[in-house]
Amino acid sequence: TRTQTLFDEAAMRRALTRISHEMLEKNKGMEDVLLVGIRTRGYPLAQRLASNLKRIEGIEVPVGSMDITLYRDDLTQKKEEPEIHHVDLPVSVDGKRVILVDDVLYTGRTVRAAMDALMDIGRPSQIQLAVLIDRGHRELPIRADFVGKNIPTSSSETIQVQLEESDQVDLVSITN
Ligand code: 5GP
Ligand code: MG
Repeated sequence: TRTQTLFDEAAMRRALTRISHEMLEKNKGMEDVLLVGIRTRGYPLAQRLASNLKRIEGIEVPVGSMDITLYRDDLTQKKEEPEIHHVDLPVSVDGKRVILVDDVLYTGRTVRAAMDALMDIGRPSQIQLAVLIDRGHRELPIRADFVGKNIPTSSSETIQVQLEESDQVDLVSITN
């Protein structure tokens, strides 16, 4: 196997800073925006984006989280499907522009589950998506509004995301 670095600490910081500016530009000041990080690693990313927005523009954007894990359906046994375990939102989603944040976007099934959960809870005015890595292979018509890096992977390749908050280091790499 070979491992190649995609983001070191400085590159990750720059990508998240760029995405923060893109969010401000797209949402013209961030009123009524709610960031929702998909656990595990989407949540610290959402918190970092919120702290960038505070530093750049002086605004407090609320941050929530969603816990979505894959489970193997007993009937089909073939594919894993995402299941919502826990949703923690500091404010109502009604009328909000909700920006989902995740580390890696792949088939799109996790994001679809997150969007379903949000729309069960309330009535967001808009849902956007930010991801650190888009590795391709979508199985649903889903795309990200904000992307750290597009990495067209082959099926034998996987992305490793390590964050200071959970892994004591900021590092994204690809292994094949
Ligand atoms: P999807 O539901 O789009 O197929 O997969 C996205 C979810 O699975 C994300 O929450 C992400 O954390 C995880 N994921 C999918 N592929 C990878 C990968 O190559 N590396 C990592 N670290 N996570 C992945
Ligand atoms: Mg995940």
